[in-house]
Amino acid sequence: MPDIPKNFHSLETDQEFKTCCDCGTELISSTQMYMIQKSFAKNECVMEFALCHNCKEKLDEQISNQSKEAIYDFLFDNSSLLTTTENHTSPSPMLQIETCCICAKDRQHCQGYTYSGLFLGTHLIPGPLPMMICDECQGDMHENMSDHTRDVKDKFYKEHFPGPPTEVDLPTTNPMTF
Ligand SMILES: [Zn+2]
Ligand SMILES: [Zn+2]
Repeated sequence: MPDIPKNFHSLETDQEFKTCCDCGTELISSTQMYMIQKSFAKNECVMEFALCHNCKEKLDEQISNQSKEAIYDFLFDNSSLLTTTENHTSPSPMLQIETCCICAKDRQHCQGYTYSGLFLGTHLIPGPLPMMICDECQGDMHENMSDHTRDVKDKFYKEHFPGPPTEVDLPTTNPMTF
């Protein structure tokens, strides 16, 4: 079995994510895919979670089609993203989280950023994910979302991250979850 890349380990436990943050289901031994997402502000991890496929589907159902289209349009309008997604044969999918999928800025030059990846057991699934987006581009995307989508996401983040450290701005929205 391959190792899960360090970038997708939990900072809290210094190990792989073991369970879904929502329902607590076991992830690594499961036969269903799951998503890991981490957000950073000035290179400090401010949020991280692993979400099983079922819980992600449930969340997706609450998002209106209209918002999905808006997000899709936004992504599709961007040529650098297309380059990234067409590059599925890249020998190292992990390179995809080194630059923003929208503006192609280097991760080390971003003030804040979020990345996510799809896994099956300890296998990283290649494709449009893993993907990284910088805070600036995320802000642009946020403007394209409906209020309903924002509410669903805000609720999700509030439920799972009730007490963020006060000195950091916890991202309240995240297009990459969907
Ligand atoms: Zn779950
Ligand atoms: Zn960007």
